[in-house]
Amino acid sequence: MQEYKLFIGGEWTDSATDKTFYDINPATLDTLASLQVAGKDDVDRAVEAAWEAFKTWSETPPPKRAMVLFRAARILEERKEELAVLMTQEMGKVLPETRGDVQEAIDITLYAAGEGRRMLGETTTSELKDKFCMTVLQPIGVIGVITPWNFPMAIPAWKLMPALVAGNSIVMKPASDTPLLTIKLVEVLMEAGLSPGVINLVFGPGETVGKAVVHQPEIRAISFTGSLETGKWIMGECAKAMKRVSLELGGKNPIIIMGDADIDLAVDGVLWGAFGTTGQRCTAASRVIVHEEVKDEFTKRLLGRTQVLRIGNGLDPKTDVGPVINESQLSKIEKYIHIGQNEGANLLTGGKITNPGLPGFFFEPTIFTDVGPDMRIAQEEIFGPVVSLIPVSGLDEAIEVANNTSYGLSSSIYTRDISSAFRAIKKIEAGITYINSSTIGAEVHLSFGGVKGTGNGFREAGTDAIKEFTEVKAVYFDYSGKLQKAQID
Ligand code: NAP
Repeated sequence: MQEYKLFIGGEWTDSATDKTFYDINPATLDTLASLQVAGKDDVDRAVEAAWEAFKTWSETPPPKRAMVLFRAARILEERKEELAVLMTQEMGKVLPETRGDVQEAIDITLYAAGEGRRMLGETTTSELKDKFCMTVLQPIGVIGVITPWNFPMAIPAWKLMPALVAGNSIVMKPASDTPLLTIKLVEVLMEAGLSPGVINLVFGPGETVGKAVVHQPEIRAISFTGSLETGKWIMGECAKAMKRVSLELGGKNPIIIMGDADIDLAVDGVLWGAFGTTGQRCTAASRVIVHEEVKDEFTKRLLGRTQVLRIGNGLDPKTDVGPVINESQLSKIEKYIHIGQNEGANLLTGGKITNPGLPGFFFEPTIFTDVGPDMRIAQEEIFGPVVSLIPVSGLDEAIEVANNTSYGLSSSIYTRDISSAFRAIKKIEAGITYINSSTIGAEVHLSFGGVKGTGNGFREAGTDAIKEFTEVKAVYFDYSGKLQKAQID
């Protein structure tokens, strides 16, 4: 079993604590690695190393910084299969999905590398004669990055690659359930020529190590992806310190199925949205808002397809649905089944912890019908293979139900009517809307993020990727040779 120290200043160094924790395969419960837990002093050391490295890295021309990323993308491509297998062992999702996760990391690496020759500011006019105005993008400094476990390589890459090409240095705390894939990503970057200290890794519980990163006074900005609860706390702490913070949080993503929808296509989309990644995606379809006209037919076809899904080890090509991430997540899902039943929803199928001949954390794909829009199972993020069917009688009601949550990440509508599609685009409160496709499957050249409780206005990836990790400076160049006063002269 591999043992990991902390990665600080380009070296694997001992932590100041004598604590370790273990990285466990959620399907087999095999131990994959042990990792040292960082203390507050280690976080301080990591920040010091990052500021030291920042001096040179921020002065390196962006196209040269980008070359490191281009080389990293090539190495990731060569190791894609090996990394995907390791990811399935560490996180549980099925191999085609972990291949997709690594591919997303490759895509964002190439996309961010391309920004090395763009990083566009603006040139604009001046209200005064002989004066030139422009904006330039500058790195922020040392950034604290805190990530969840459900996209072990894609989410770290979404943050690291734009932050790096923009000239920042990083102190990163990956999720305790999936640190290995972050380590592999950083190893690839070092192999590609990243200077020591530009990325530093500290491991351990969010409650101690994550908090130490958030509270470290020399860290200028926090980039966080995770739950609403943690995100709210981080935002509050950053507000007290006037620290910049970008948040990508949870979702309670709706799929609307109208009476004119292609039902088989909608069933495909709901199956993939609800049970892909065992329902553990921020964009998972956890609410299906279905028109009364097609409710019975849709429910019958969805039930048939759900009951034949095969649960098992994600490395087995016959598996459709892998394990959930850990025991506490398994208990949380089970708790929500009782909540749904007590609220009066109808448990159509699933609802139980199961054992496909492995000791890990498996839960049956579950469908609730006759769900009311205000029930807790229709409001709170369960983050497991559980979908709630909510009947409605028209588009306005469907949109009202879709918007009736504190989240606003992804959304979808199945309809053949172009007016319904455009009304949904306009009226659904979400950062993403799909037409005739599921709620999942973002592409890296489009901005990603959500509204309301899903975030605080930032977007990742796409043309917004660089904005999250740069400060804008307005530059005024007066060549008139005299004092000119804007708004006065
Ligand atoms: P989480 O419990 O909030 O943890 C996320 C990260 O924060 C982990 O590294 C965790 O460390 C750390 N952490 C926990 N408490 C902390 C604290 N007080 N201060 C600083 N760091 C802290 O979320 P999760 O269960 O890992 O991830 C699932 C959630 O992420 C879901 O809500 C999902 O919707 C959301 N998510 C959102 C997006 C998006 O882009 N919008 C994408 C993926 C996932 P430990 O691992 O040590 O606990």
